[in-house]
Amino acid sequence: MKYEKRLEGDDVVFILHGLIEVRIPKKFYEKCRQRYGEEGTISFCPYKSIYNAITKRRLYYISKESNVPLIGHNAFGIIDRGTNLLQVRPITGCNLNCIFCSVDEGISKTRITDYIVDLDYILEEFEKIVEYKRKYCESIEAHIDGQGEPFLYP
Ligand code: SF4
Repeated sequence: MKYEKRLEGDDVVFILHGLIEVRIPKKFYEKCRQRYGEEGTISFCPYKSIYNAITKRRLYYISKESNVPLIGHNAFGIIDRGTNLLQVRPITGCNLNCIFCSVDEGISKTRITDYIVDLDYILEEFEKIVEYKRKYCESIEAHIDGQGEPFLYP
């Protein structure tokens, strides 16, 4: 796993892939590290908080185990508008901050959450939807897009 580590106030902070900020209070970090090792602590420490390191919003990791469906939300997942085109949105947030942004994805705006979808989960759900749509469409296109900047996806 590629990450940077630093101390900040009362937290040990890990930055994964330049994007995912994992904060663990120092008082719990050492106990977790002894139990899980350093990389295991990032994954399993129950006292961690996760943020988008660019937008500074809380970041929610959407995996299959989370039971959050990938159809039905406009900001992440898979969007089917009833054509042969599927919009695939693996991440929210944007590294820019345009004053005209209609989806409020930039930095220092009013939104308080970001989302990132597990790669295996989004691929699995995409295949299911394609399988269903094949009955009605000869060819199906996938556009990897987002309300924000899809190239932030690690
Ligand atoms: S999502 Fe687009 S419009 Fe909004 S801040 Fe990013 S680049 Fe600008």
